[in-house]
Amino acid sequence: MINLEVPKKAGALINQAYQAAAEVFRPISRKYDRAEHTYPAELDMFAALLDGLNSSGEGGAGAAGVRRSGADTAKGNRNGANLNVVLGTIEMCWGDVGLLLSMPRQGLGNAAIGSVATDEQLERFSGLWAAMAITEPGCGSDSAAITTTAVEDGEDYILNGEKIFVTSGQRADAVVVWATLDKSKGRAAIKSFVVEKGTPGFEVVRVEHKLGIRASDTAVLRFENCRVPRENLLGTPEIDTAKGFAGVMQTFDNTRPLVAAMAIGVARAALEETRTILSSAGVTIDYDRPSVTQHAAAAAFLQLEADYEAAYLLTLESAWMADNRQPNSLQASMAKAKAGRSVVEITLKCVELAGVFGYTEESLLEKWARDAKILDIFEGTQQIQQLIVARRVLGKTSAQLK
Ligand SMILES: Cc1cc2nc3c(=O)[nH]c(=O)nc-3n(C[C@H](O)[C@H](O)[C@H](O)COP(=O)(O)OP(=O)(O)OC[C@H]3O[C@@H](n4cnc5c(N)ncnc54)[C@H](O)[C@@H]3O)c2cc1C
Repeated sequence: MINLEVPKKAGALINQAYQAAAEVFRPISRKYDRAEHTYPAELDMFAALLDGLNSSGEGGAGAAGVRRSGADTAKGNRNGANLNVVLGTIEMCWGDVGLLLSMPRQGLGNAAIGSVATDEQLERFSGLWAAMAITEPGCGSDSAAITTTAVEDGEDYILNGEKIFVTSGQRADAVVVWATLDKSKGRAAIKSFVVEKGTPGFEVVRVEHKLGIRASDTAVLRFENCRVPRENLLGTPEIDTAKGFAGVMQTFDNTRPLVAAMAIGVARAALEETRTILSSAGVTIDYDRPSVTQHAAAAAFLQLEADYEAAYLLTLESAWMADNRQPNSLQASMAKAKAGRSVVEITLKCVELAGVFGYTEESLLEKWARDAKILDIFEGTQQIQQLIVARRVLGKTSAQLK
């Protein structure tokens, strides 16, 4: 039985994350939206706070990643690190999603390391801020089409290729790079490598100007004969065509609920702001009357809230399943699809409901509407999540349903 009430013991974490979001993120939200590419120095203090939460083993509000190997002796339901990270992320993104994405040591590369690294690697890379580089000029949704190569040479691998749209690619200490060991062996040959900044042959080419999440840097990276020690390959170097993509793809089961949580945080921020605006305009939302009998704005608001609730519950379910060692690929994609689509619809509708106030920089509504779209794109687009859900529900492989 899944009980989707928030566990009591998560209360302190939620409260802490909310305070940080309200007192640090919100006041500087507009500043770093305007000052694109400027590092928000205010975040350093919070990064230290999150390090403390993560090292306590309870998870914080970032991308700690969750390990599934090893013995798990706990009996009954577990509310663990995945759920905590999701709950913390919701609060922080209620404050500002671009700023959360800019938090040191909370990159998606950290989630990959946390999820699939060996114990030795986990220790060696601890304290490192890691971005995640999958996308290339010729490969986005179809991550099996990766052309960046990793060729074994003595004790090293030599990486060659270009990666685009890497979140925190400029600011992070390292990047988890997806590369193929042997293109002819297909997706099973794709492995991920931790490449540290300053490694010869690793260059940050440029950062992008964007529609939203402007506080977060998005970089183009180039690898030219970049020599990486063998020990930096995450997971196993064996090319197991039977297992295929499983190793690297496992990261997504943990990161998709996280991106869904980001969407929920932004959606809640927009709903709360809109409720206040509607209320000051004399529109009350009545939960005891059918929406069709209410003010059109109240009826629209109720519909948005229903989408929000559905996305929220799906996200909690997918995180809970990860904590309880249950395969959650289907639920992670359902949560990401629902939350990604809902946040775009909710924030845009809130701009509309708030009238001119929603469209100007007087409120953050217009910013949240711009920030929302990426949450329906990265870590797998809306269409890709739906494709994954369809495959799982229909029992089809990726070759059978493209
Ligand atoms: C701000 C930002 C940050 C990002 N951060 C990162 C990062 O940190 N690391 C990283 O590796 N990448 C990152 N990305 C890249 C992101 O993950 C990709 O943009 C995304 O995976 C989509 O790939 P694409 O842009 O190449 O689109 P394409 O794959 O070319 O898709 C274009 C359109 O076609 C649709 N489509 C594609 N295939 C199918 C199909 N089979 N069926 C139906 N529709 C389909 C897609 O849904 C999309 O709407 C980031 C992107 C942005 C904009």
